[in-house]
Amino acid sequence: MPELPDLLYVQSRLRERLLGRHVTTERVRETVVLRFTVRGNLSLLLGRPLEDAFRRSHFLVFRFEGLDLAVNPMLAGRFRLAEPGQAAEGSLAFALGFGDVELRYLDDKKMGKAYLIATDDWKAIPGMQTGGIDILSPAFTREHFVSLLKRRRDQARVFLLDKKALDSLGNAYADEVLFEAGIHPKTFCRSLSHEEGVRLHDAIVSVMREAVAEVARRGEPIEVKVRDFLKVRLKEICPRCGSKIRTAGVKGMDAYFCPRCQPATRAALVDWTRTGR
Ligand SMILES: [Zn+2]
Repeated sequence: MPELPDLLYVQSRLRERLLGRHVTTERVRETVVLRFTVRGNLSLLLGRPLEDAFRRSHFLVFRFEGLDLAVNPMLAGRFRLAEPGQAAEGSLAFALGFGDVELRYLDDKKMGKAYLIATDDWKAIPGMQTGGIDILSPAFTREHFVSLLKRRRDQARVFLLDKKALDSLGNAYADEVLFEAGIHPKTFCRSLSHEEGVRLHDAIVSVMREAVAEVARRGEPIEVKVRDFLKVRLKEICPRCGSKIRTAGVKGMDAYFCPRCQPATRAALVDWTRTGR
């Protein structure tokens, strides 16, 4: 899944390259990824200039006059800029030509979805969860975060992934943030002290800002997901203490963590709010 730093990078590159340009061609190879809540198909976009491209929740939205094309890449979706004549990839789902450049959406698993909707008709899109606070915005303060945390009865990692609360972290950065804060992924939010809550907040801000900067600095083509700088996700050895990285199932997802840098406390293992204490 593309995470916030990936989406922001793709967004800025696509804006640079495509804003103001008109759609000259369209082609669809995998109809399964497309959903239309307006009458018609992708040919509705022909001749329209791209007015804006922005992130909304985990969607990338392409704004044309009267129409938004909102793409949720899910597990395996990727964007790619190609020359129009360049051979198409096996995973091509659809493409929009903008003169001498073609925007391709590739998806090996065909799990992503692209919705063509009337402008701002977000309610037509299932799973377009919003309401979470933008973790890169100035409004995301320590006080705000700790007040959210205090209302939660779930585990820290589950909270971090809740897009209705935080916009947004995926599996990879949830692991990185917990590692940075030294907090075990199964820790219950209510068992965190104020100081630990502040640490978790600061870890979110520093990990995400550094990741956004690193992905931009690397300047890879937009279809490349830059993840090799991550410290624990999919890693074997802790870069801080040399311990073997472990995995734990949290709500059906694998969490990667260092057992020494992120020790489980008794409070992490017992949810006191459920035992009546
Ligand atoms: Zn460690």
